[in-house]
Amino acid sequence: APYLQVNKLWKHYGNFAALKEVSLEIEEGEFVCFLGPSGCGKTTLLRAIAGLDPQSRGEIVQGGQTISRLPPEQRDFGIVFQSYALFPNLTVTQNIAYGLRSLKKSRQEVAQKVNELLETIGLPDMAHKYPAQLSGGQQQRIALARALATEPSLLLLDEPLSALDARVRLHLRQEIRSLQRKLGITTIMVTHDQDEALAMADRIVVMNHGIIEQVGTPEQVYRRP
Ligand code: ADP
Ligand code: ADP
Repeated sequence: APYLQVNKLWKHYGNFAALKEVSLEIEEGEFVCFLGPSGCGKTTLLRAIAGLDPQSRGEIVQGGQTISRLPPEQRDFGIVFQSYALFPNLTVTQNIAYGLRSLKKSRQEVAQKVNELLETIGLPDMAHKYPAQLSGGQQQRIALARALATEPSLLLLDEPLSALDARVRLHLRQEIRSLQRKLGITTIMVTHDQDEALAMADRIVVMNHGIIEQVGTPEQVYRRP
């Protein structure tokens, strides 16, 4: 069975339907991009998978379990937003450790996990810095480490690169993809950038006006008819 199944999902804001009976299947370990113009419903679909907004109708199944009615704390995911969303008054270590503390890990376990993640994202010397002392690309790497700290089975990325300058963006594309491959973690990334989706995705979900227009590999989606 697919790792993630979205079945006939609807999301209304008042009378406006942001998602109209959206269905989708994602396999374990896939890197999937939601692609489409601003306002087409990409973020709404990602947030529905995370349980961050009440959905209107439909079902979401993750790892064989129906999660549609579970609050976000009871779902299994890590998430990275466009604008870093790091806690400005916490150090890098404290930011990354944030989710771990609620799991009641020992200080030693937390310190070990944080160090391991800082190595993984290539920022071993940043442990005691504050977010404002870091570049945008470094902050986004920290946000990624924080999302991965609890070892979730699903990684959700909401336009994680769009606030960064072009050079950093290209670099981080590769870093995220190689980290994702190494961990084998099922990943969904929202983007409005075709080039980014083409470069990164195993499969692209093309959305428009609250529906899925097309799903396929980059080759399938971009092949001329
Ligand atoms: P995308 O991520 O593709 O840019 P969104 O999922 O953010 O699009 O939004 C889809 C549509 O739903 C847009 O028309 C947006 O204006 C609308 N929308 C999103 N959030 C809300 C909200 N909280 N209240 C009302 N409308 C919303
Ligand atoms: P995106 O970068 O995904 O396009 P937006 O800028 O559309 O995001 O939305 C940013 C925030 O504003 C989101 O939390 C979204 O839910 C909310 N939002 C978007 N459109 C509306 C709307 N028409 N009414 C109220 N809230 C909205």
